[in-house]
Amino acid sequence: MPDWKVTFLDLRITDNNERDQLISAVERVFTHGRIVLGPEVEELEKRVASMCKRKYAVGVNSGTDALILGLKSLGIGPGDEVITTSLSWIATANAIALTGAEPVFADIQDDLNIDPNSINELISSKTKAIMPVHYTGKVSKMTDIMKIANEHGLLVIEDASQSFGATHNNKIAGSFGDVGCFSMNPMKLFAACGEAGMVVTDDCETYDRLISLRYNGTVNKEVCIQPSHNGRLDTLQAAILLERLKHLNGIIDRRRAIARLYDERLKKIVRTPVSSEGEYDVYYTYTIQVESREELIKHLDVCRIETKIQHPILMPYQLPYKNARRGEILNAERLVKRILCIPANEKLSNEDINYVADCIIEFYKSSN
Ligand SMILES: *Cc1c(COP(=O)(O)O)cnc(C)c1O
Repeated sequence: MPDWKVTFLDLRITDNNERDQLISAVERVFTHGRIVLGPEVEELEKRVASMCKRKYAVGVNSGTDALILGLKSLGIGPGDEVITTSLSWIATANAIALTGAEPVFADIQDDLNIDPNSINELISSKTKAIMPVHYTGKVSKMTDIMKIANEHGLLVIEDASQSFGATHNNKIAGSFGDVGCFSMNPMKLFAACGEAGMVVTDDCETYDRLISLRYNGTVNKEVCIQPSHNGRLDTLQAAILLERLKHLNGIIDRRRAIARLYDERLKKIVRTPVSSEGEYDVYYTYTIQVESREELIKHLDVCRIETKIQHPILMPYQLPYKNARRGEILNAERLVKRILCIPANEKLSNEDINYVADCIIEFYKSSN
């Protein structure tokens, strides 16, 4: 493991205040002893539902599970097709496949989110739902996507794993579709100290099905009405998330300030993230689009700057999906070779950010 000068992510808890708050929260759970679906889970569900302008939220044990249970709660399964993006973490496609349905892969736009036109071209008699991913901390073109869904009677499951708190036309991520799904894993902006996820919805029957699906397909914890697994959210993680919620706005503000700093320094050198009016992006990643990516990564390695490609393999090119139906995914194929995530986490100082920008500028000056 190289000795980075600027790390991509730093999961240590360095702020003593925050450390004390988290330890107290964990101690409160130890003291009340309601470890399984304790009061913190319910409290967190209420908070998340209200933040997302939803009636219900159901805490689950990961973002992947949020997607699987979200799809299943809407009755999606064998024989159905779900149209999703080509560029995402593989959990998106896996969740669809694990319900027995088939993922169908659409192209992306320059903002790295699913292209609504590409969705339109892929709709078949088997299409049951659309699963847009709000990639990099930016909400997909949900106004257009909801219009397509309504015209064709399709369900919408938002994979908002990377975009808790982001908005599009002043509407918050997770509030557009039939269900919204979040991951609160340690890498996300709203992060537990372990695995965690959440599903939100306005429909009371969908909510009942989620509660049942979350615990072995049971009703009243005993009578089983459908096969499912144990996907409950851990009370300790819920307690930690309730504390972390207090810092979330600060984290988002800092990430947005870092993005503005990078925009300013880099917009003439590389393709910086697009940010349109009416969109409030939370910058899960700050993803630039570059020429000579491999050489740039090597140069940044030498400068001891950690970078990541999220994600280097398009989902339809992963082994289990090589025969899956897809559209012309030309933009995805072009952009996947150009994307690079540079360090933009809230723990970095302006000095760190300027150093990263200096190194990138230096690379393109000397390579010309
Ligand atoms: C993180 C993530 C997931 C999966 O979440 P886990 O909590 O890791 O299971 C799914 N989709 C996207 C887009 C993600 O970024």
